[in-house]
Amino acid sequence: MSYTPDTRERLAHATRFFARIERATLECPRCGYVYQISSRVPSATWDPMTARFTCTNRTSGSSCGKTYILGVVAWPIIPAPKVASATPRDQVPNERQLVQLRKEGGGWWLADEARISTARPDDTNLTTEDERPEDADEED
Ligand SMILES: [Zn+2]
Repeated sequence: MSYTPDTRERLAHATRFFARIERATLECPRCGYVYQISSRVPSATWDPMTARFTCTNRTSGSSCGKTYILGVVAWPIIPAPKVASATPRDQVPNERQLVQLRKEGGGWWLADEARISTARPDDTNLTTEDERPEDADEED
């Protein structure tokens, strides 16, 4: 279980600054469903005008439906080379979150046995036949 510091007292003395979320990958804090939101893609989940995020997860049969306002927190760091030099733990998806992101990406995920081991890989750009647009020349 991860440690979550109680930051309420520190945040009470924080200074407001301008920030706007244009795009994000986030997990619903209530149910854990992972979303990829973008202000360029209209959805029932994300309203970029109001910064409202509504969880529309129905995978468990019932709707989560929790709504949040999304913002940004800028944590100050000590200016030293090694401080904050790695991705924060909560910005690296765990196995469950990664599976969900892969599923939504619609990509193919190969087993470790299919790992490439040659200096110059063979073809790497693949698609299924049903996803390939029909060739206009073949229809005649
Ligand atoms: Zn949720």
